Amino acid sequence: MENKVLIFGHKNPDTDSICSSLVKEKLNKKMGKENCVAVRLGKINKETKYVLNYLKIKEPELIEVIKEGQEVILIDHNEFNQSADGIEKAKILEVVDHHRISNFETSEPLYYTAKPFGCTSTILFEEYKKNEVQISEEEAILMASSIMSDTLLLKSPTTTDHDKKALEELEKVAGINLKEYGLEMLKAGTDLNDFTVEELISLDAKSLDKDGTKFIIAQVNTVNISEVLKRQEELERAIEKEIKEKELKLFVFAITDILNSNSEIIALGEKADIIEKAFGKKLDNNRAFLEGVVSRKKQLLPNIDKNI
Ligand code: MG
Ligand code: MG
Ligand code: MG
Repeated sequence: MENKVLIFGHKNPDTDSICSSLVKEKLNKKMGKENCVAVRLGKINKETKYVLNYLKIKEPELIEVIKEGQEVILIDHNEFNQSADGIEKAKILEVVDHHRISNFETSEPLYYTAKPFGCTSTILFEEYKKNEVQISEEEAILMASSIMSDTLLLKSPTTTDHDKKALEELEKVAGINLKEYGLEMLKAGTDLNDFTVEELISLDAKSLDKDGTKFIIAQVNTVNISEVLKRQEELERAIEKEIKEKELKLFVFAITDILNSNSEIIALGEKADIIEKAFGKKLDNNRAFLEGVVSRKKQLLPNIDKNI
């Protein structure tokens, strides 16, 4: 394992992190770069499980810490605080990502592919095209799953024409009805009942840092916001604990309705009042309903970040 190049997405892996890592391994191998393997930095979520079960693919191996000098390829992230422990001392060969570049530094030159697309898999799809590598059915479904997950079936404002075009072409290769499949996949991820509140707030949480001000934006997808809000009190206790332990100034928990494309947020911490500046909504009972907001990357993060 250690003498292979490790390919992985961010902590609290989402479908893009897992599927794009698997696809990157396949693409590299098809291009003669055999010595690599996709791994993961955390538990596979239910949405991704749906994809892996559907394709009968084994979960990538879990990696906890990276050894000094380990060769790695980062997928779907670049910020070190979202990456593996020990990443500072790894040898980063390549990054394929669709996020802002922040808290990132290397001592050696590297390949860096950053595109402001809706999904890492869209970047990989274009790499297949550019290099004239054929896409298998399995690879098509992996990439389509990532795209539909990250863009919420192309409804998120992060969606670009590149994503639409990629999905259209992937549907032909996949040979299945991607709309039907995608909706089932997203729904599989909204089954939140058997999670503890601690799990809910960390399922898809991104740790962020603005000039030493630490904050977290966590997000869950649902088809029923009020169902999740039944646990508000319990959720708030878990969030408060997290704020204390990690010395956060703000914790935003977004409950996103994937069918109607809205989010209810719970915001806590000494900087919670910035939500008003960021979205023009006063917190009521620590909550605010944000019409049309579904994207952490394009909507929540930039508005919060500039007001923090
Ligand atoms: Mg991601
Ligand atoms: Mg992504
Ligand atoms: Mg996401």
